[in-house]
Amino acid sequence: MPLLVRLPNWLGDLLMARPMLHALRAMTGAQGLVVVGPRPLLDLLAPEQLWDRALDRGAREWPRAEVAVVAPPSFSSAWRAWTSGARRRIGFRGEWRDALLTDALHRPPRGESHLSREYLALAQRAGASEVPLPALPADRPAEALGACAVLAPGAVYGPAKRWPEAGFIEVGRALTARGIAVLVCGAQGDAPVCERVAAGIPGARSLAGRTSLAEQAGLCAAAAIAVSNDSGLAHLAAAVGCRTVTVFGSTSSAWTQPLGPHVRVVQQAPVFAPCFQRTCAIGLPCLTRIEAGHVLAAVDALFAASPEAA
Ligand code: SF4
Repeated sequence: MPLLVRLPNWLGDLLMARPMLHALRAMTGAQGLVVVGPRPLLDLLAPEQLWDRALDRGAREWPRAEVAVVAPPSFSSAWRAWTSGARRRIGFRGEWRDALLTDALHRPPRGESHLSREYLALAQRAGASEVPLPALPADRPAEALGACAVLAPGAVYGPAKRWPEAGFIEVGRALTARGIAVLVCGAQGDAPVCERVAAGIPGARSLAGRTSLAEQAGLCAAAAIAVSNDSGLAHLAAAVGCRTVTVFGSTSSAWTQPLGPHVRVVQQAPVFAPCFQRTCAIGLPCLTRIEAGHVLAAVDALFAASPEAA
């Protein structure tokens, strides 16, 4: 009987769940693994060939499994695992769902442990062991881009994750002056901010909403550097091995710093951060205190630490 994994619903969370998925794959082999998740995220991970069968999260029925590992903390995901008939159902406590799980794991306070370790603990409860995490495969664009940078000034979560546009423009201009072309990237909803940022940087292009996740991964793999808010795109860039600078505002870098070999975080949090709010009542000092010079220093540190990457 297969092992079933309900994957997270958000891009960043999914990429932080890759250590869990690789651990389970190493334990069962691809033939033993069935995954359930949002179709675009399944398509992104498909080249890793980690599973035998993938179902969209809207699938009416889950196949019966011996063990179901449930990454989302929602009641509905635990309910689906329970109704699937899985003998063991492993997930996090909370959301009134403990009785639906056979193994309801306690989560530490946010930031005490990295989210990837929390997900990995689910796999370990199923009997898996941690394995080395490879880079996410990505097809670089056929078109030669030359030295380029990806800037990602959007964040679906809300303003308390968005470093001011002027900072991105200043960083983009500094990179352009070094001969690095700038691509401003994001989802469809980020298009207005991406276009404003691109308009402020000589020669920059906005690609927001015009690429699939796989294409965006390829762009990041080809880029010399990515500078992003704490968003899914930061996690994607880090996962493919791109040098990645991530600006954090109201959230916790200890909890959700992108996973990758070349990552730097810029955070100037007041003493009461992280507050995890989407908006700020006091003028966002956690983000407005961050200057372009702080971000450029992180860029330079990454270039100095990994001159050979990309
Ligand atoms: S309350 Fe503090 S941490 Fe939260 S968004 Fe405002 S400045 Fe940032």
